[in-house]
Amino acid sequence: MKNHGLGDWIHRRRVRSRGETALISAAGELTYDQLAERIDRLANAFADRGVRTGDRVAYLGENSPAFLETLFAAGSLGAVFVPLNTRLAPPEIQFALQDSGARLLVSSSTLQPLAASGSRETAVERIMIVDDGHGTQHEDAELPLPAEPFEQALSSGALHRPDVQVSHEDLAVILYTSGTTGSPKGAMLTHGNLTWNAINVLTDHDITSRDVALMIAPLFHVAALGQGALPVLLKGGCVVLEQRFEPGRVLALIQEHSVSNISGVPTTFQLLCEHPDWDHTDISSLRNLTCGGSAVPTRVLEAYESRGLAFTMGYGMTETSPGATSLPSAYSRSKQGSGGLPHFHTDVRVVDPADQPCAPGEVGEIQVHGPNVIAEYWNRPEATASSFVHEEHASWLKTGDMGYLDEDGFLYISDRLKDMIISGGENIYPAQVEQQIAALESVAAVAVIGVEDERWGEVPRAIVVVREGHELTEEQVLRHLDGRLARYKIPKSVIFVESMPRTASGKIRKPDLRRQYA
Ligand code: ATP
Ligand code: MG
Repeated sequence: MKNHGLGDWIHRRRVRSRGETALISAAGELTYDQLAERIDRLANAFADRGVRTGDRVAYLGENSPAFLETLFAAGSLGAVFVPLNTRLAPPEIQFALQDSGARLLVSSSTLQPLAASGSRETAVERIMIVDDGHGTQHEDAELPLPAEPFEQALSSGALHRPDVQVSHEDLAVILYTSGTTGSPKGAMLTHGNLTWNAINVLTDHDITSRDVALMIAPLFHVAALGQGALPVLLKGGCVVLEQRFEPGRVLALIQEHSVSNISGVPTTFQLLCEHPDWDHTDISSLRNLTCGGSAVPTRVLEAYESRGLAFTMGYGMTETSPGATSLPSAYSRSKQGSGGLPHFHTDVRVVDPADQPCAPGEVGEIQVHGPNVIAEYWNRPEATASSFVHEEHASWLKTGDMGYLDEDGFLYISDRLKDMIISGGENIYPAQVEQQIAALESVAAVAVIGVEDERWGEVPRAIVVVREGHELTEEQVLRHLDGRLARYKIPKSVIFVESMPRTASGKIRKPDLRRQYA
């Protein structure tokens, strides 16, 4: 039997892509050959330090070759990679380390204080420090555990392939969900889940071995890792790793490296086309622009169209590794606002509360089935039991998202089931109300929640953050909505707040808002 896990990808690729560049970062360039050798050494170094099949190796750091090297090296030992969001607070890091039971933590030098406080009272026994060129955040950050430089550990490892068999069914990554609707859950992504997601991307998007993908979103987000970096590496293309998003620098990098692919959220693309350098940067190498999260505003679409570029949209989640649907760029206008068609090897359906398929146009729960969909959550049997519908020929993931399919099979996402408001028997999807309020220039952020009401059961209430230097009254908001939305969808009250409670990935925590303002 052969090793068919992620840990073997770069080795299989190096033969076909000999001499080609795999990674470009602040630390320089790595060819597929060099990357494969580094992965072997690191895997053996991990093994020398006691990492065995099934053990968890956590990673806390910004985009750097070490992130991907740790993923592939752990994978070649059959160990499990646990990427952590660097914007988490110490207790949240601690939760992920305790829950996953990681014994080894790889952390970038700038995040040493977070690594130190987050690894307290966990099973972490040893820390490897990746020098990210920015020094440490506090030179005196004390690490309570044995620590060693990542490069030193890597070069101590022997240069041979570890003799471990890994199959598609084996666990590759534990990735925590954003915790938007409750506490984060560890999605158990197998080697097969990530491989099939990459195959979906390669099947549905126009990716070639000549592509250069610039990673501006952090790799610890499954969108950047699963949709962005991994498919390009599977295909033999080049990945450029950038630590943070700075529009001017991104434009310069596109020109310097002839970047063909970038992915992001609508704001990413808006900031790029509004930058003063936009008009005189050569962006003719760009071909694949992938946008997730929500629809691209029309004026941003137009700015890119005027330079011959269209967007591919996507809908997905941690549990689907992460692609569920994608909207080919050819449809970016005619199906604007849609999340697209199910990925090639994946099925998507919309069902009523009895799990029976809805008619086109009818809103129900979105469910996903396919080889990229996880089978369970780590340590959460109740969440696993309540998240799947098992049928004779398929297990469907209950996404908790509501939406509908149009006559042509394109998916439109309405909102999360947990956020839906039921007022006098009518369903209200807060996302629709929020979109209308967000169109007001003075609004910096908005969330709509349901509050109890004697007569209607629930009524909507808007929570609004006003843009600095602007003014806005409740009456102005309500007047704006009058005639734009059905009467029952218009909030009965507007509360103005200084800021929104957000998850580390920037999503508004509605459970917190409900606790405080409902
Ligand atoms: P948790 O599951 O812990 O509550 P989360 O669902 O926010 O957190 P993620 O897996 O990061 O964690 O996010 C996936 C969710 O993001 C989807 O279920 C959906 O609600 C939302 N989403 C993703 N893509 C889109 C899109 N194109 N349009 C609208 N919503 C989207
Ligand atoms: Mg979720």
